[in-house]
Amino acid sequence: MLAPTRVRGRSPGAGRGPMPSMGRGRLSAGPVPGPLAELFDVGGRSVVVTGAASGLGLAIAEVMAECGAVVTLADVDAAGMERAVERLHARGLRVRSRVVDVADPEGVRALIRGTVAELGRLDVVFVNAGISAGRGPRVPEGRIERVDLETWHRVVAVNLTGVFVTMQAAAEAMRGRGGGRIIVTASVAGLRGDPPVGYAYVATKAAVINLVRQAALDLARDGILVNAIAPGPFLTNIAGGRVRDPEVAREFAREVPLGRIADPAEIRGPALFLASPASSFVTGTVLAVDGGESAGPPV
Ligand code: NAD
Repeated sequence: MLAPTRVRGRSPGAGRGPMPSMGRGRLSAGPVPGPLAELFDVGGRSVVVTGAASGLGLAIAEVMAECGAVVTLADVDAAGMERAVERLHARGLRVRSRVVDVADPEGVRALIRGTVAELGRLDVVFVNAGISAGRGPRVPEGRIERVDLETWHRVVAVNLTGVFVTMQAAAEAMRGRGGGRIIVTASVAGLRGDPPVGYAYVATKAAVINLVRQAALDLARDGILVNAIAPGPFLTNIAGGRVRDPEVAREFAREVPLGRIADPAEIRGPALFLASPASSFVTGTVLAVDGGESAGPPV
């Protein structure tokens, strides 16, 4: 059972109150984060993470809970989520789970509205659930003429429409309630072409980056900060865990200036940054967590 949610301080991103009095020479003032201990404080926040049964979503849910947030894990994989929640409960973390398919708009709305009704607040939503299906154009079946529309529509339903509907529900829950954070997991595949992965994947990941920018503008005056994380290759179960094949891992690692793929734990710092007061003046941006991949090819 979940302990009652502690309510501490203002919502992250709640920044639209009256301007504090400005000292001489100061050009602007906002909700300046306090001492170091408060910089990354998400204690008592209500956080939802979609796609939280595995990989990056699970790592994000875990770091949020470790930092004192009350985390609702949402995923289509009920068994995977049960295993994850059992492990996190054994560590004394305040987490709960909801089975949701983000391609089902009603299910997403019920998740978000239910979280607000049950916990009394919603501060941060990680819009993270995503799939990769179909090969990229490095193999004949991944060339543009061979892309099948069934795969295309399935990826669009989860990676684009699912993301949009989750952002929409989060905005509805946060608007007029003191602010919040919406953080979308995009990909380096949305920043440039990416031959190892399929057309639908690169298209949807590029699309969500511009969704983030548009929503950041829409929601800025309400103190709702909207940002994207663009991961490079991480060792997760995406695409059936394809990257666990050493040959595939080497193919991905070759593109990364740091020369390796990443452990899911390496998403923890960037996720905490974007969810916490440390990023109080950051919105509409894309934080690449990619070992330098988006900067250019390795030398
Ligand atoms: P993963 O497969 O390990 O985890 C994804 C989770 O999302 C799974 O638990 C899965 O059950 C869930 N999910 C899939 N479809 C869903 C749906 N319709 N509704 C609800 N949950 C659903 O993969 P991951 O790598 O952790 O992926 C997380 C996000 O990171 C995705 O958006 C992915 O595109 C993105 N990403 C991953 C990488 C990488 O290299 N692993 C790189 C860039 C971006």
